[in-house]
Amino acid sequence: MNKKAVTKAIKKEKKKGKFEPGTFDLRVKRSRAGLGLFTFDPIKKGECIIEYTGPRLSKKQEEETENQYLFDVGKKYPTIDGSPRSNTARYINHSCRPNCEIEIRLGRVYVFSKRNIKAGEELNYDYDTDFFDEYIKPKGCVCDKCREKAGKK
Ligand SMILES: [Zn+2]
Repeated sequence: MNKKAVTKAIKKEKKKGKFEPGTFDLRVKRSRAGLGLFTFDPIKKGECIIEYTGPRLSKKQEEETENQYLFDVGKKYPTIDGSPRSNTARYINHSCRPNCEIEIRLGRVYVFSKRNIKAGEELNYDYDTDFFDEYIKPKGCVCDKCREKAGKK
C-alpha cells in the first residue's frame, strides 16, 4: 500500500468506531422535566454517548401505537419504539440549548456530545419540531435557555 492508501485505511477504521457508544457512567435521576439522564463522567465533544434502542414497528403498529418515544429514522428503515425502560436514552430530555445531538446512521440512532460535558450535567438534545409542538410547547419548555428567557434563573 502506498502512503495515501494507508492513511485512507486508517481513516476508515476510525470512522467505524465513531458509532460505538462509550462506557460512561450514566444515571437516571430526577430533573426539572421529570426524570432525566445525567453523566457522572466528563464527556469530550464529539463522543458517541449512547444508542437509542427499541423494537422496530411495522407501518400498521406505528399507526396504532400511542407513545411519546417513537423515533422516526427516515423512509428506508422502520420506526423505533423507544418506550422500553432498557432504552436508557429515552430519559434524555429536550433542551433548546442542548449539550448533545442526534446522529442517524443506517436507521440507527446515536446520541453524540455537542460540546465538552462536565460530570454531573444532565444530558439533553433538541427534539424535532413536531414533537416539541405536540408535547412540550403546551406545558411550556423548562430548559435552561427558556428559563433564562423567562427570567427564572
Ligand atoms: Zn427550551
